[in-house]
Amino acid sequence: MVLNVPKARYTKEAVRGRAEKVREHLLRTWGDRSCGMCDQKKWLIFVDAVIVASDPHRSGLYARAPTELPSAAIVCDHCGNTLFVNMKVAGITEDEL
Ligand SMILES: [Zn+2]
Repeated sequence: MVLNVPKARYTKEAVRGRAEKVREHLLRTWGDRSCGMCDQKKWLIFVDAVIVASDPHRSGLYARAPTELPSAAIVCDHCGNTLFVNMKVAGITEDEL
């Protein structure tokens, strides 16, 4: 498998920039909430996670094909509880990952 990924997207600066946008989005929409499993507030942000899911809205040839959801994983550093934020919906990226 050959991945055609633009290298500029994965420089330290680019990744840090997206992580900062995710952090700002979480503060704006989620606030200072604690983990729903352990009630701690030790969150880690991993940008550029990809969730692969089936898309019930597709039709024709690609009706059953999976679709990729560009996401950030928000992980509780105490218990491992993991949440995902869709980075396109959140306005953090327009790109495919
Ligand atoms: Zn937790």
